[in-house]
Amino acid sequence: MKNYALCPDCLRHAILAYFGEPSPTRCEACSNCLHEYETVEISESVHTILGAIKSVRQKFGATLVLSLVKGSRSQKIEQYHLDQSAFYGNLSGFTMRQLQDILRFMVQDGLVETTNDTYRLLKITPKGNAFFKQPASLTMRQYKKAEAAQAAADDVFEGLRAIRTRLSKKIPGAALRDFQRPHVARNGFRPSAKQSRNAGDQRGGRSQIQKIRPLLCRFFPKRVVKAVSSSI
Ligand SMILES: [Zn+2]
Repeated sequence: MKNYALCPDCLRHAILAYFGEPSPTRCEACSNCLHEYETVEISESVHTILGAIKSVRQKFGATLVLSLVKGSRSQKIEQYHLDQSAFYGNLSGFTMRQLQDILRFMVQDGLVETTNDTYRLLKITPKGNAFFKQPASLTMRQYKKAEAAQAAADDVFEGLRAIRTRLSKKIPGAALRDFQRPHVARNGFRPSAKQSRNAGDQRGGRSQIQKIRPLLCRFFPKRVVKAVSSSI
């Protein structure tokens, strides 16, 4: 079942092959055939996430660990001075959704497990420790470009929304133009509510502002962008 869940190829073909039945290699109907996946090497990212879990002594859950490697700002990151950590922002090139996918893969693959209490702390298994000492190739299937681009656009949108919320508190009466959720065209693809929420735990930090500055300038007057940049 675990192999089935991680199978990058046609699921119908995988099941029939398991029972020794001949079938076409693609059915064009299962979730794997319908979504465009690509296989990516994630060994380095997995190693970084394991290192980050170790660096916080396995005392935190997924949200904090992923915010740490993503380089997000949150109350907890600041509270524990994790923006000083050697792991802070090491995987900033990934979207939050991609990082969540990699972590989910790590749990499914038995490298990491979560505690069964309400804290859901991340604990490294013996298999995870062995991998950390001697990393090997690890591949995972991932949504292809268009969907990844949409996830990245969602990240920016959530960053903007967080900044807008801060702004409205910091600069009373500032006239803020409204902005639309960015949309990457792809046949009928819309970001799910869950996906949008997933990106929602990022707060706009200084580095994030730099990243989205050009976009920010399109939606806010210049003096407001300046005020935000210097106040965060
Ligand atoms: Zn299929």
